[in-house]
Amino acid sequence: MDELVEKIRYHSTRYYDQDSPEIEDFEYDMLVKQLRNLELEYPLFKRKDSPTEKVGGQAQKEFKKYRHSRPMLSLDNCFNSDEFMEFHQRMLKLTGYNQLEYICEHKYDGLAIELVYENGLFKVGATRGDGIIGEDVTENIRTIKTLPHRLKGEHIPPVLRIRGEVIMYKSDFIRLNEERELEEESLFANPRNAAAGSLRQLDPKITSERNLKLFVYGLATDMDVVKKQSEIYTLLGQLGFPVNPHLFVSSDIDNIIRYQQEWEVKRDQLEYEIDGIVIKANRIADQKAVGELSNAPRWAVAWKFKPRRAESVVKDIVIQVGRTGALTPVAVLEPVKVGGVIVSRVTLHNKNEIERLDIRIGDTVVLYRSGDVIPKIEKCILEKRPAHTVPFILEPKCPACGSNAKISEDEVVIRCTNATCPAQIKERIIHFASKPAMNIDGLGIEWVEKMVDKGLIKDVSDLYHLDIHKLMTLDRMGDKLADNILKAIDQSREVEFSRFIVALGIRHVGERNARILANNFHNLQEFMITKKERLQSIPEIGEKVAGSIIAFFSQKDNCKLIERLMKAVTIRYLSVEKTMAGLKFVITGSLIKFSRHEIEEFIEQRGGAATDSVSKNTSFLILGENAGSKYDKAVKMGIPILSEEQFIRKFMK
Ligand code: NAD
Repeated sequence: MDELVEKIRYHSTRYYDQDSPEIEDFEYDMLVKQLRNLELEYPLFKRKDSPTEKVGGQAQKEFKKYRHSRPMLSLDNCFNSDEFMEFHQRMLKLTGYNQLEYICEHKYDGLAIELVYENGLFKVGATRGDGIIGEDVTENIRTIKTLPHRLKGEHIPPVLRIRGEVIMYKSDFIRLNEERELEEESLFANPRNAAAGSLRQLDPKITSERNLKLFVYGLATDMDVVKKQSEIYTLLGQLGFPVNPHLFVSSDIDNIIRYQQEWEVKRDQLEYEIDGIVIKANRIADQKAVGELSNAPRWAVAWKFKPRRAESVVKDIVIQVGRTGALTPVAVLEPVKVGGVIVSRVTLHNKNEIERLDIRIGDTVVLYRSGDVIPKIEKCILEKRPAHTVPFILEPKCPACGSNAKISEDEVVIRCTNATCPAQIKERIIHFASKPAMNIDGLGIEWVEKMVDKGLIKDVSDLYHLDIHKLMTLDRMGDKLADNILKAIDQSREVEFSRFIVALGIRHVGERNARILANNFHNLQEFMITKKERLQSIPEIGEKVAGSIIAFFSQKDNCKLIERLMKAVTIRYLSVEKTMAGLKFVITGSLIKFSRHEIEEFIEQRGGAATDSVSKNTSFLILGENAGSKYDKAVKMGIPILSEEQFIRKFMK
């Protein structure tokens, strides 16, 4: 039991506090279940500080702490219809009824939050933390576009506390990870961790770029007008909150079981991730009658979905060469369906992962979809390992050009440093043509490979010298397709500055950094000769990114390539005048006409900076409704203050 407690605590910290879980939720749930069963069997050995009695998580010290007026609880789990029936029988026994009305809802896989409204205005947003003390993330929550800053309707109590979940759509999660991959930052394991990591940012500007969404599912303020959980949702909708449309009220247990089964199948059709459904007693009187335990209400249960796993056989392990020369091992599998998606290739990341799995060609492996989005290999089934397999050794040799690869200091990344390596050239061209860069439609991997292999193109500038005759020499190329590719290349001859920066493929410079850079330099020439100090004076650009930009432009070959490109491509610069250059703004409170993100973008495009805290360098404080302590500080320091209207009149007219 002690061992289990230790294990659960370890994984709990990784999950709640570091947003970086190592095991699947189901595995974690099984550890908790095992401990709970042992505690029932041997109550004498149950520890007072057992994790089965607590709500996981802890407020991080970087944030202001927020004490919840009522504990924010977790939910009890069940994993099959028998366990759900046990919950139902317990509910009947506790209430004394022979039938109960339930409401079924999606169990959003995100981060629990409390929202506090005073006199109808959004005042505080906080995470759950350990259930008693959470983190004050008000400014970050304010950036969520669907959050009402002012409640609609009448008879709103002076203080209203609402509970809900902040989530990230699957598409935003995939985009964010793609962006992080470009900027060589660590990837989020799943949309939940990405949502949690995005909400717990010290800089609300980053949160605002992450496009978080919100669902609300409860009140922590008593309101006599509502008699049912379903009425809470009607009320929340009237107040202006986004309420989930897939609610289902029923007293028929078979229908409830069907609802669960239906969503277990249909979950992939949703834009957001759900990890089960929540079944709650619908009548508030029934909820009150059964009450709650120390860590979860007795009147609700989360019926979790089964983890999505599948077995397959490793046909091969190949080495993929990235745009920057990084060598990544990839397992090629017998195609298999995991949770509705066919998987045939899974990344093995690096040497450490290969060693952890001891994966070999011929092995049977267990796959799962982590966070239900990205497929991963969980383990090899040793009993099914064929005889005479050998451990896979990741050689520090580039499979494409045969040159010796360089191993990074921490031995995790192996990189081919040959600039003329054909695999890298192909990847660089694919990156150049990709959507966030030059957006050359139709120039997929298949054609790029053929063009490079045939010697039609040696670098990205050669794309602009292709013609129909050259393209028609490629195997299986038709004249219509060739024409389309040429048209798409032609369309990319005029491109926005930020896209061109992405297209250059500078390490650590993805879409976000490119946008910031494009806003801070008048033109390409100025950007190319910039000094490291100038780059680092841009608030969002750190040493790593600045160093990588300087290293890129210090290579003669890169400058020559740009010279060749400039003969074919025209860069479109933002025509906005830098009327705000040198001005630093701090925004406090809720704005009515603009979202935070919009006003910050407006300032940045004009060369100004929007920062988070008031200092003697602040030029103006923009004062919204319901301002916080920044206002007091600005008054004390004598910083000029502008209302939203005054800002508009001064800078937007
Ligand atoms: P939980 O996620 O099982 O359930 C409680 C939470 O569900 C609430 O706090 C609320 O935020 C959320 N919720 C979503 N939809 C809801 C709805 N419609 N109505 C009410 N609440 C709703 O509990 P938890 O305590 O946050 O976390 C435990 C879970 O976290 C475990 O079941 C496990 O899956 C996961 N976990 C995983 C690891 C790991 O290492 N993989 C570690 C710790 C916890």
